Amino acid sequence: MPIDATQPYDPDNIFAKILRGEIPNDTVFEDEHVLAFRDINPQAPVHVLVIPKGEYVSWDDFAAKAPDVEIAHFVRKVGEIARDLDLVEPGYRLLANIGGHGHQEVPHLHVHLFGGKPLGPMLA
Ligand code: IMP
Repeated sequence: MPIDATQPYDPDNIFAKILRGEIPNDTVFEDEHVLAFRDINPQAPVHVLVIPKGEYVSWDDFAAKAPDVEIAHFVRKVGEIARDLDLVEPGYRLLANIGGHGHQEVPHLHVHLFGGKPLGPMLA
């Protein structure tokens, strides 16, 4: 079920549990502020989720509350992860679902990184 992007942060959401090590994940990259792991239900040959370790419900919440340095670090890391996965030359897609109409299901900000095949036109 899609979430309400304006809801308070739920510390029991599945990505919070992944960050606490309560649920295993297939980690692609991790540092002090960012975790990237493979989606459990991949929609492309490469389907990685990149999340900040801070408690942000959605991109909207992150943009409103995160310090500039944290936002800059996150954006830079998303790009570096794509480069490290050799996706830059063939190309790839970034996607953040936000709230109900965006069909966001997990209430912890995540950016989907898709690649590994021609993805076709964006579906709205
Ligand atoms: P959303 O619709 O943008 O919120 O996408 C949530 C994504 O999280 C979906 O693509 C799910 O397949 C993925 N997902 C849910 N639980 C897990 C998990 O435990 N590990 C990895 N990916 C997950």
